[in-house]
Amino acid sequence: MNNHYKWLPVVDVDRCTGCRACVNACGPRSLELVENIAVLVNPHTCGSEEHCIAPCEYDAIHMEWVEMTGDRSHGKWKS
Ligand code: SF4
Repeated sequence: MNNHYKWLPVVDVDRCTGCRACVNACGPRSLELVENIAVLVNPHTCGSEEHCIAPCEYDAIHMEWVEMTGDRSHGKWKS
């Protein structure tokens, strides 16, 4: 089976304060606050550039290889 993975930010919901620093740092607008928690609402636009990581003062967001499911027709990870 050919799985597809992408290097993406993952938010620790227990640490996230909803400060919006990561959202503001994301050029492609891949992150949004949902009920005051940062959520990767658009993983397909994420350029995996990690601009969202350093601004977080709460160690609440880190990068992981995430298995992509669903629509695979968009994004740099398309194979
Ligand atoms: S920068 Fe950190 S604490 Fe602030 S919204 Fe993003 S993940 Fe949450």
